[in-house]
Amino acid sequence: EQAKRESLNLSFYQMSETYNIAQKLTLATELQLAIHNNDLHLFHQPQINLKDASVHGSEVLLRWQHPIHGFVSPDMFIRIAEDTGIINELTMWVLNTACQQLNTLVSKGYDQHSLSINISGKDIAMQNFLSKVKNILSHFNTPTHLLNFELTESVMVSDFQHLSNLMSKLSVMGIQVSVDDYGTGYSSLTYISQLPFNELKIDKSFILDLADSTRHQTIVKTTIDMAKSLKLKVVAEGVESAEIEKILTDCHCDLVQGYYYSKPLPFEQYLQWLENYTQQDK
Ligand code: C2E
Ligand code: MG
Ligand code: MG
Ligand code: MG
Repeated sequence: EQAKRESLNLSFYQMSETYNIAQKLTLATELQLAIHNNDLHLFHQPQINLKDASVHGSEVLLRWQHPIHGFVSPDMFIRIAEDTGIINELTMWVLNTACQQLNTLVSKGYDQHSLSINISGKDIAMQNFLSKVKNILSHFNTPTHLLNFELTESVMVSDFQHLSNLMSKLSVMGIQVSVDDYGTGYSSLTYISQLPFNELKIDKSFILDLADSTRHQTIVKTTIDMAKSLKLKVVAEGVESAEIEKILTDCHCDLVQGYYYSKPLPFEQYLQWLENYTQQDK
């Protein structure tokens, strides 16, 4: 175990961009093993409807329970998975598990609960992405209108025509698509308006300090107004206080997500959270 630790030689807080080639390869190999050893878990974080405080659905967030390092954040391994091509297998594992969990939610009566899944640009670029998705959805008989794919702005700078075709097909299938981390990339709302997006997620860097930053308040308010005129639903991520929630309510933001409501939870715990939360409603 000591040898393993030394071979990986990885500080827990080190970001993936600074790994050397040996570290990347070790991590990639371990990640591949993790897929087969059941060391991956999907955590769920609720998304709340601001209009009536109901639960709209959850975002599924990948966690890797590393034998030595404990829970490793996706920020530390998604980049490596992308660079080494493992991401495609990883995404299909996520989709498989998410569809299974969606069926559990539906069977417990949460039949309007949506699931948001993060999709990498490398997945979009994959030739048989759509047929793989279709296989999984038909295997689980998934209600497609409850599925939402989150894409970051970075996917838009690559092959626009390919993305446009793919998104049309997802739209026909009934799958919703959001722009994730809006405001951190380079694309404009004009660019986004040319693609069939359903939803826009404002990046948490604009939300975390919303109560103290009048600049961010202006940006967020303007973004929400523009998104609405493009008929996009708006989600704010990184909501950590009632004060921030109040500002977003005043700006007519549709959905909110953040530690104020719940941290991402393991699925079983999330089911418990859901039950408690909806109990309070009644
Ligand atoms: P993201 O898609 O933008 O996910 C939101 C991140 O913000 C999550 O970090 C979540 O835990 C965190 N967050 C939510 N609410 C709050 C809050 O109130 N305060 C703060 N400070 N943070 C909050 P997480 O789970 O570490 O994921 C990081 C990123 O890794 C995700 O950002 C996403 O880009 C990527 N990721 C996660 N799971 C997957 C996956 O299954 N596939 C792919 N391709 N990427 C994933
Ligand atoms: Mg996301
Ligand atoms: Mg995000
Ligand atoms: Mg992010």
